[in-house]
Amino acid sequence: MDRQVKVDYHNPVKLSTEQAWAKVLEEPDQVRRQWLKDAIKSILKEQNILLVSHYYVHPDLQDLAIETGGIVADSLEMARFGKNSSAQTLVVAGVKFMGETAKILSPEKTILMPDLEANCSLDLGCPVESFIDASQHYPEHVKVVYANTSAAVKAHSDWVVTSSCAVDIVKHLRDLGKSIFWAPDKHLGNYIKNETGADMVLWQGSCIVHDEFKAFELEQLKKERPQAIVLVHPESPSAVIALADVVGSTSAILKAAREFPNQEFIVATDSGMMHQLRTQNPGKIFIEAPTSGASATCKSCAHCPWMAMNGLENLYRSLVEKRGEIVVDETYLAKAKIPIERMLQFTSRSSGTTKPGMVPGIGAA
Ligand code: SF4
Repeated sequence: MDRQVKVDYHNPVKLSTEQAWAKVLEEPDQVRRQWLKDAIKSILKEQNILLVSHYYVHPDLQDLAIETGGIVADSLEMARFGKNSSAQTLVVAGVKFMGETAKILSPEKTILMPDLEANCSLDLGCPVESFIDASQHYPEHVKVVYANTSAAVKAHSDWVVTSSCAVDIVKHLRDLGKSIFWAPDKHLGNYIKNETGADMVLWQGSCIVHDEFKAFELEQLKKERPQAIVLVHPESPSAVIALADVVGSTSAILKAAREFPNQEFIVATDSGMMHQLRTQNPGKIFIEAPTSGASATCKSCAHCPWMAMNGLENLYRSLVEKRGEIVVDETYLAKAKIPIERMLQFTSRSSGTTKPGMVPGIGAA
């Protein structure tokens, strides 16, 4: 029997209306936008604060991070950068688990976020009580969790992984003869299981953005654009992954876009990625993978509503008022650090350290 079916109590928790709705930010007009950018740059410089932005946030916040000596990165590099940075205050433009990870790794630092309510469907769909309850049925399994989880879940885990190192870490555990209890993303878990052949029990959570990519429509698009390379993030459904030329993390997608000589790419990940893809590859064409059926009346925007809660206005306010500070419960702080450090040590064997003002893998921006 498929082991995914056996663990039916791992069904994702239904989000309440309050949790499911995110705020839609108003774009400032051009004059205000420029004023905010200049003011933010001054504060960051004067107060020696570094901006750590994820690839999915607004292009202005990505550009500001690069221009001020911070970083734009995936969650693994964000964590590593925050830990190695000498700045005593970091402002994290991303979602809550990214701010929490920075705090866990550097409890002495002040970690600010533009909006503390920016969350993630994977984190929300894996409450710690349910995680403990489910994992207790598999006492011999190694608990491996995606970075997109709360500090509390991490504190009850053996390993934390990101999509850029998950396959390698699970292969390592498989070679040690370990079985794995995986949470929370079912698509990423299934992908890792197929890639490694590891014995894995999968939690059934999903990312509300990547879950929307459609395989049939992607197949049609590939026929219309036979020269295009298809780049897919492994949080996407398996039928979409099966159509990919490259499956990988946001960093792997950027690397592939730079290295393939092709001029056209179809991209199945959050549309926030388009900014770096286009900036780094002028002249190449990037097309969003389909998120609706041919006769659909609804179409996903392929943009994370929680990532979209990071804007210039609330970034400015968090810097001026020092509000939006991440606090991690003392109960979890030390325990959650262990599986994250395990990941960083494992991955540092194969990757260098990212310096300020850089985009990982491409040098100074
Ligand atoms: S894009 Fe998906 S996985 Fe990433 S933060 Fe948003 S909901 Fe979570």
